[in-house]
Amino acid sequence: MRIDLHTHSSASDGTDTPADLVRAAAAAGLDVVALTDHDAMSGWAEARRAADEVGITLVPGLEISTRFGHRGAHLLGYVPDPAHAPLVTVLDRILDGRTERTPAIVAALREHGIDITEDDVRREAGGSVAAGRPHVADALVRQGVVGDRGEAFTELLDPGRPGYVNRYAPALEEMIALVGAAGGVTVIAHPWGRGGRSALDEAALARLRDLGLAGIEVDHQDHGPAERAELRAIARNLDLVVTGSSDHHGLGKVDHDLGVNTTEPEQYERLMSLAGSSVSGG
Ligand code: AMP
Ligand code: ZN
Ligand code: FE
Ligand code: FE
Repeated sequence: MRIDLHTHSSASDGTDTPADLVRAAAAAGLDVVALTDHDAMSGWAEARRAADEVGITLVPGLEISTRFGHRGAHLLGYVPDPAHAPLVTVLDRILDGRTERTPAIVAALREHGIDITEDDVRREAGGSVAAGRPHVADALVRQGVVGDRGEAFTELLDPGRPGYVNRYAPALEEMIALVGAAGGVTVIAHPWGRGGRSALDEAALARLRDLGLAGIEVDHQDHGPAERAELRAIARNLDLVVTGSSDHHGLGKVDHDLGVNTTEPEQYERLMSLAGSSVSGG
């Protein structure tokens, strides 16, 4: 059984439609795929129809842009009730922050002498409800300003670069509780990716577990072999579920092919068995 618990579609910043993503997952030999678009559940219905057609199990999820202290942290949420009003309210606020950020990024880049417009970015974002820096990156690639998304980030869009603009993000602790209240389960995405190691150490992960965190994404392309081994040991100490996944973005991210990392069936079963436990009322 091959299980990939972290992928993005064109509902956020992946390049495949939700249906195409699910078909690609089946073609890649996966038995279970989670759709985890940034801050959005809008791809679920289309993905579910495609999953039924091709006979693959779809886990509806999302990847929430949170903050942990002063830094960003990505929280994977699985199977929350999509109609849970407090969750929907926070997600709407995050999406509004994304929408408002785009003109600010464009203005900053224009200030920097780059001739890019909001329309250029909107065209790249297509049907996405979660406008993001990757769409700005795609517009910059199309204009020939940079060669690829990666270069757009390192030169212009990463923190400290000329086109970086902050946006609203709720606290990680708050979102662990909220996804749980909505009947879902949470896993920290790539906890030690991009310098996350110092913030998300074992003590911090222990506190988050006490707030309801179910697991950590250990097998991710942002983690090297030594980091994976250490994170696996921490998960064992803290009795956290260990997941592995591709963080596939279609053509939007190289070296993140579907199934490049996978989750062990026992870990997946345990994760799913924890869903709904915090709203059962005891
Ligand atoms: P945003 O959520 O709009 O602030 O943009 C963050 C997204 O950009 C994340 O989903 C990352 O996957 C993506 N991202 C960040 N750095 C890079 C990079 N160097 N190359 C490609 N995508 C990136
Ligand atoms: Zn992304
Ligand atoms: Fe992420
Ligand atoms: Fe992701």
